[in-house]
Amino acid sequence: MKILSVNAGSSSLKFTLIELPEQEVIVSGTFEKIGISGSFYTIKYNGEKIKKESELKDHKDAVKILLDSLIELKIISSYDEISGVGHRLVHGGDKYTESVVIDDDVIKEVEKLIPLAPLHNPANLVGIRSFKEILPNTPMVAVFDTAFHQTMDKEEYLYAVPYSWYEKYGVRRYGFHGTSHRYISEKMFEYLGEHKKIINCHIGNGASICAIKDGKSIATSMGFTPIAGVIMGTRCGDIDLGLIPYVMSCENKTFEEVMTDLNKNSGMAALSGLSSDMRDVEDAYMQKDPRCITAINMYVKKIVDYIVMYNALLEGTDYITFTAGVGENSDIIRELVIKRLAFMNVKLNEEANTGLRGKFAQISAGDSSIKVMVVPTDEELMIAKDTYNLINN
Ligand code: AMP
Repeated sequence: MKILSVNAGSSSLKFTLIELPEQEVIVSGTFEKIGISGSFYTIKYNGEKIKKESELKDHKDAVKILLDSLIELKIISSYDEISGVGHRLVHGGDKYTESVVIDDDVIKEVEKLIPLAPLHNPANLVGIRSFKEILPNTPMVAVFDTAFHQTMDKEEYLYAVPYSWYEKYGVRRYGFHGTSHRYISEKMFEYLGEHKKIINCHIGNGASICAIKDGKSIATSMGFTPIAGVIMGTRCGDIDLGLIPYVMSCENKTFEEVMTDLNKNSGMAALSGLSSDMRDVEDAYMQKDPRCITAINMYVKKIVDYIVMYNALLEGTDYITFTAGVGENSDIIRELVIKRLAFMNVKLNEEANTGLRGKFAQISAGDSSIKVMVVPTDEELMIAKDTYNLINN
């Protein structure tokens, strides 16, 4: 059965077509600059990458080209061969604790949640509507980034702010990257045959740490929005909110402008003064660039802070897992994190840690108090699996 896994952004649409239950990726691609000049798309199929420039007025144009390309490539002979479409949705509020089949009520609920994710949910909805117009009879499923964290205790998700903000407006920690954290949790369960206490470090351009117990999220570093927690590529992570009005007055900026700075011009990009891409910052770190040394040390320290905090919350941890772009590919960051945990008797197997590129592997020494693994994430597969399971039930 062919399932499309879709991630629609405001001007982009990423897709992966997966055969299930075999879990085989058939084709994937990205449509970019939708609705703006210079739009193009790339399709990866059979080890080849096809790139084409094409006017994409809106997401519907992208969906049409996507499906016609599948026919042209002889992957399908008609649209009906797409058995289901799974959509990544950023925010499911406290309404959605798991993935759901999309119907009019779900669309209405997701619309209601727009104030909680004003940039993401509308773009995700455009994706849903575009597919709905072109594939009106194909079942579709919503997979929420927040859903996995709905198992957190109240003590973990409440903020110490006026209680009415929570009651009236839903001000609380939601957490994100849930689809990835859940994928890692399930992958570890598959590997171990039982649930263990896990601290998962999803560190990519965006980053969050999650404490997992009995296969459930009990704490996570992102909060009401994805700006909170560890230091990211361009996001600041945890800061003192008091600096916001101060910078507004110093720089004569609006609140929105300062928020843009905190989301887009902060994190590793700001600390390094060089780049948001960890590869560039690591290269400069190796060349002993003082700002990049400080940037990487701060980045690592913040991850360690969360690991230590979650180790206390879990009352001991069995596994620390690393995933996403940095977690899967950066020997240096993993090594620096683990070395800072030496006081807890966490030990690295340096050889096993070297040169892993997105491979599932144990990287801790045999006598490490906590086992450390690299577990490549696969959010697209998770979305496709949820879709497959829901439409076959
Ligand atoms: P993601 O958001 O999960 O796609 O991760 C993207 C980020 O992973 C990039 O911005 C890089 O900072 C980082 N990354 C990818 N490959 C490497 C690598 N070989 N070494 C260090 N960081 C990497």
